[in-house]
Amino acid sequence: MPEKDATLNEVFEEIADKSGTEFFLELPKNYKKGQTKYVVITGSVMSGIGKGMISSSLCKLLKDREINVEPMKLEAYLNVDSGTLNPFRHGEVFVLDDGTETDMDLGSYERFADKNLSKNNFVTSGRIYQEVIRKERAGEYLGRDVQFIPHVTAEIKNVVRKLALEKKADIVLIEIGGTVGDYENLFALEAMRELAYEDGKQNVCFVNVTYIIEPKTLGEHKSKAAQFGIRQLMQTGIQPDVIICRSETKIPERIKEKISMSSNVHLSNIVGCENIGNIYELPLAMRERNLDEIVLETLEWNKKFPMTGTGNKKLYEWTEKNKPKENAEKIKIGIAGKYTGSSDTYISILKAVEHCEGPGNAKIEIEWIDTEKIEARDKNELQKLDQVKGIIVPGGFGSRGTKGKIEVIKYCREQKKPFLGLCFGFQHALIEFARNVLGYADANTTEIDLKTKHPVVDLLPEQKQIEGLGGNMRLGGQDVEVKEGSIAWELYGKQKHVRERFRHRYECNPEYIQEFEQNGIIFSGKHSKYPIMQILELSKKEHPYFLAVQYHPEFTSRPLKPNPCYLGFINACKKAQ
Ligand code: GLN
Repeated sequence: MPEKDATLNEVFEEIADKSGTEFFLELPKNYKKGQTKYVVITGSVMSGIGKGMISSSLCKLLKDREINVEPMKLEAYLNVDSGTLNPFRHGEVFVLDDGTETDMDLGSYERFADKNLSKNNFVTSGRIYQEVIRKERAGEYLGRDVQFIPHVTAEIKNVVRKLALEKKADIVLIEIGGTVGDYENLFALEAMRELAYEDGKQNVCFVNVTYIIEPKTLGEHKSKAAQFGIRQLMQTGIQPDVIICRSETKIPERIKEKISMSSNVHLSNIVGCENIGNIYELPLAMRERNLDEIVLETLEWNKKFPMTGTGNKKLYEWTEKNKPKENAEKIKIGIAGKYTGSSDTYISILKAVEHCEGPGNAKIEIEWIDTEKIEARDKNELQKLDQVKGIIVPGGFGSRGTKGKIEVIKYCREQKKPFLGLCFGFQHALIEFARNVLGYADANTTEIDLKTKHPVVDLLPEQKQIEGLGGNMRLGGQDVEVKEGSIAWELYGKQKHVRERFRHRYECNPEYIQEFEQNGIIFSGKHSKYPIMQILELSKKEHPYFLAVQYHPEFTSRPLKPNPCYLGFINACKKAQ
């Protein structure tokens, strides 16, 4: 960069210096080629075939070999983050400890790799373009016309290499969002091709996850669509090293041979991956098919990170412990919300429940309860309330279905049915209590009713000045001070401080705290400095399990480490009649 007060001539001299070459390499300071290696995962044929789960499983397999692996998602869309996305269309918004709002794939990386990720593990095209435009305005391109190639691709390589440096990663595993052939991810693919060219082929392993169709009318596997998809990838100049063939049923050897022949990928590097019953079996299934070994071989690192003697045993135990035992009790629980048509909307909640199956030894079945139908007093829906052992009321925004939520919470409180309220569910537990116990019939949150005389849930003070919707809620990990002797305190193993993740704009209105407490609500988790209420419960004498939290405990739940709020809920459901 020229000095700020350089004369125009000096600036042009510097441009002349740089414009002598067509190469455009912005290596971060101290970056050394080959110190970090890369695994690039792309998808072909179609989306929704589990590319994210395969990436997460590979991450786990590499981590189990004591490799410092950093997963990263390069998301194609132009949103700067996932915060403004509608969860019904795109699946849940996952929140990282540092407050970044991401795609739900980051949730599965965190759960499988069992580590906290941060902002730089999730990069959208929107963020890339924002940075390119910022640099252009700041004059950082020194008079060059700014182009997709080399400038946008340089920015993509930049974020990848910076993550490698920042985390001192052995391997950065990059999942490219979308499918090969999309316009949106073309530059990400080009950037990955350039990365392999610049860092050296032995430092980048390309894995393509493709799909082998099996039309019912034919009753056999067909590889043509996959061949086309892979060919499309090769047209971008990327030669895959490994191909994972997703399919409904096991593919025969001749399909692998066809894929091998048409893609230049050795037969031993074509890995079949048919549907499996339990997602926790996926890492083991992939190890049994050598996936991590093949990847390390292409990176010439299989000797550097050999499998230790306990590797497979540990993985086998992990797989078994995640599953409930054959004779485990079956319990049905309800989730009462407005997006009940799409399970991706509540994916972390479903995972958090699943995490209780092994440690809590229960087979858990989910009954979706549509709160709009509860509002309409639909008989079928109302019956579900009786049929389930306990009910979770999840987070949400806006007024749709909230009357039904209040009905459901009232039912749980009065019928002594285990209840777990999450975020909006916490706020509605307060509203229900204010209406039916404190006697304030119009009690509400100002998110729904600005004119209510009893705003028991109101905007957080710092939210009152904020305009616009992107990335400005109270977001990410915060300390929760837990009240000694409370149910929450027992659940959290008698810890006084725990860290949980938040995503909200509204809170329990501090003016009503005392009144709630005088009438039986126990605020067992609070912010340590400000009067922000974060956990509420009813005493054990009053109710077997009535607990609601202002945060999202599902974001910190991990396989074999279920979040205590969920495990407490499932244990209470097991005891319920
Ligand atoms: N809409 C509520 C708020 O903004 C709850 C948010 C949520 O459930 N994540 O506070």
